[in-house]
Amino acid sequence: MKKVFKILFGLIIVVLLFAFLFVPKIVDKKFNTVSTRPPYKVDKEAQVLYDSLDFVADMHCDALLWKRDLLAKNDFGSVDIPRMLEANMALQAFTIVTKAPRNMNFDKNTGETDQITLPFILQMRPIASWFNLTERALTQCDALYGFEKKSDGQFRVISSAKGLEQYISDRKSNKNITAGFLGIEGMHALEGKLENVDELYNAGVRMMSPVHFFDNELGSSAHGVDHAGLTEFGKEVIKKMQAKSMILDVAHCSPQMVDDILAITTKPIVSSHTGVKGTHNSVRNISDKHIRGIAKTSGLISIAMFEPATGTKTPASTAKAIKYCIDLVGADYVALGSDFDGAIEIHTDVTGLPLYVEELLKLGVSRDDIRKVMGGNVKRFLLENLPKN
Ligand SMILES: [Zn+2]
Repeated sequence: MKKVFKILFGLIIVVLLFAFLFVPKIVDKKFNTVSTRPPYKVDKEAQVLYDSLDFVADMHCDALLWKRDLLAKNDFGSVDIPRMLEANMALQAFTIVTKAPRNMNFDKNTGETDQITLPFILQMRPIASWFNLTERALTQCDALYGFEKKSDGQFRVISSAKGLEQYISDRKSNKNITAGFLGIEGMHALEGKLENVDELYNAGVRMMSPVHFFDNELGSSAHGVDHAGLTEFGKEVIKKMQAKSMILDVAHCSPQMVDDILAITTKPIVSSHTGVKGTHNSVRNISDKHIRGIAKTSGLISIAMFEPATGTKTPASTAKAIKYCIDLVGADYVALGSDFDGAIEIHTDVTGLPLYVEELLKLGVSRDDIRKVMGGNVKRFLLENLPKN
């Protein structure tokens, strides 16, 4: 009996070790696939234009969710610091996910289940983050600052307009640096507490969206149950955020939420990763009315790079959505919002960004407008809207 017990105990240890050591990476690889792997073949004219861009930026990436070593060049997923450097990428938004319902879909979800708890345990993240969403967000903030610390100056976390100005100036003489800034997808991360806005701000978060895949204390998701608008708590949070110059992101909001937010916002707002109904009519995507509304605030519509948002598995479909927005509101309000590493199959990894320039040129988008969309607008927007210091 004693021997059987010993064998059983040994087996459990082996299984647990396997789970802790290998499962997180297997899951990361399985969920974050890239339709076309690098290296990418790019038309010469497009590559020359891409190489001349002084500021390439993207407004959405979930890489922090996976506990990937972002300092190492990985052969899976879309983003890490070596590949950002290779891609001449100036700035990537690292948007934190804290809760995702089981069987997540675009039509109807509730917040009753969560498929992130188990991965957080297996990834051996701090125990406080296993069952508390604010802690779960803070852990991911820490992780990004941890990469900055270990990067020997190659990676910076931007949290103010002043820091961004310094970075832009430093990058003029040193292209071997890249940067990120922190966002949050879904303010259930506040755990219903207004004061947690301060906590997250102090941890470096500069952009937040009210909802993700399910309705929460702030209001309704486009993929939730109620399809309602902003709650009183939601209004209070937005007021507090905007007083602190945190950027409001309406990605995943129900149409009523976007209407309500547009009615009360005092600052420019963004949709950090979206498709447009005009080229792909999906519940996930934004209407012409809302594109115009966001542009009117001097905000940004950042176009995603995967099939459910753009309709096909090609950079051409993302370019088409970008051109659609340019034609509707002008090029000053359009940006990239890939959704890199967002548990999706994406067109290319970050080194494939020149292919988007190629497709935009094919559509007749001017070089000046391409510069704006590929990052110029994000640079301007953040210089104007991040906290000064
Ligand atoms: Zn998302």
